[in-house]
Amino acid sequence: MTANNSGSVIPFLSLKEVNDQYNAELKQAACRVIDSGWYLQGTEVSEFEGAFAEFCGAKYCVGVANGLDALNLIFRAYLEMGKLEKGDEVIVPANTYIASVLAITENGLTPVLVEPSASTFNLDPIKVKERVSKKTKAILAVHLYGQITDFEQLDQISKENNLLLIEDSAQAHGATFEGRKAGNLGHASGFSFYPGKNLGALGDAGAVTTNDAELAKLVKNLGNYGTSKRYINDFKGINSRLSEIQAAFLSVKLKYLINEIEVRRNIANKYLKKINNPAIVLPNVPKATAHVWHLFVIRTKHRDELLDYMLNAGIQSLIHYPIAPHKQLAYKEYNHLMLPITEALQNEVLSLPISPTLSDEQVDRIIGVVNAFKPCR
Ligand SMILES: *Cc1c(COP(=O)(O)O)cnc(C)c1O
Repeated sequence: MTANNSGSVIPFLSLKEVNDQYNAELKQAACRVIDSGWYLQGTEVSEFEGAFAEFCGAKYCVGVANGLDALNLIFRAYLEMGKLEKGDEVIVPANTYIASVLAITENGLTPVLVEPSASTFNLDPIKVKERVSKKTKAILAVHLYGQITDFEQLDQISKENNLLLIEDSAQAHGATFEGRKAGNLGHASGFSFYPGKNLGALGDAGAVTTNDAELAKLVKNLGNYGTSKRYINDFKGINSRLSEIQAAFLSVKLKYLINEIEVRRNIANKYLKKINNPAIVLPNVPKATAHVWHLFVIRTKHRDELLDYMLNAGIQSLIHYPIAPHKQLAYKEYNHLMLPITEALQNEVLSLPISPTLSDEQVDRIIGVVNAFKPCR
């Protein structure tokens, strides 16, 4: 990438810059774990689990190895509890990141890919209602890009039809809906702490939050080989544990999450106020605190041209996501589906940089470049 005119390249996200903010504390945390000689299932994990449960307002948090496993283990636990059976249908937004769908199919459940609202990118309750059948047993509500799904209506639909309401909160740490946070809205919630997420570890990590004691216990057990007590195996579990060193890093970064969300909100507000290019559709935010701006996603018919143009101007933007799950080779069985909203979004979305480490000058430069874009193709 080369930057012409004004200065250096603005990367989409520099993890080095993000973590350099807390360099000394992260090194201290690493040293503490190294010196302890204790690397799994110790106090770093239990302390982080307690702090993150409290942050979300949920009763329980169970650390796991990554966000996909968090979702996987929620479905697996409901299967073991008898609340789900193989073949049951799970409603999921068609434009989500593929991990949401993988967790459903991995457990022998059937994903029902529902078109999102083109303005919020999240599940559209009207379309959800239309797709509820006798076989529907759960909704996986993805708070995509950091914005809470229309929870009131989904909650009502789930109550009326006796469905489990599961959150994919991988992009929404700290987002609130009428005072309640992601992770404390549905029956259970899966979080990812992938390094690039708003709360990111320095490697893979994830968690499940819930207010259901039985579910929390089962997730913990299933993620530890199905072990209830040492060498006593109640289930054919997997190994998916949060490591002590990642928990120690996460405890440091959790303290600053609210600050970082504020910085993201300030950048987003500037973009919303100052980007006025008629070729670009800005994201729609029904409720301010419902969005934590993991991604700032705009739409344009000239997406690929804008991406190239910005790159030439020294600004890296990314596409989330260029190929929807039903168009992937991995899901050949769904390749025939026609999901026009999802397919249009896949061709029109572009994520602008919104790293909490962006300077005011960088934000102004991004706004200037985006406003100066004139499509010619
Ligand atoms: C990142 C992400 C996941 C998966 O999390 P990993 O930690 O990468 O396994 C699941 N769902 C969504 C919406 C995500 O963005």
